[in-house]
Amino acid sequence: MYVICEPCIGTKATDCTDVCPVNCIHPRKDEPGFDEAEQLYINPDECIDCGACEAACPVQAIYPADSVPDKWKSYIQKNADYYKK
Ligand code: SF4
Repeated sequence: MYVICEPCIGTKATDCTDVCPVNCIHPRKDEPGFDEAEQLYINPDECIDCGACEAACPVQAIYPADSVPDKWKSYIQKNADYYKK
């Protein structure tokens, strides 16, 4: 499972949504809620750990869950919470 962390806030570059093979990063630019979203989020139940998003992110906001820097550990839950609505 990959996780999007703080550098995405205010950036929302969306390069990741273009490369994700299973479309598990939301909101995409063409989805409702994109403008209001603080950042983008990865659905932990759908991510297949391919790593494409990590390589595509221009601000290095994306990490494998077990490599998330300590200061951003809360983002693991934050990404998951987005999909619990
Ligand atoms: Fe999508 Fe792959 Fe990134 Fe998971 S690791 S969110 S499947 S691009």
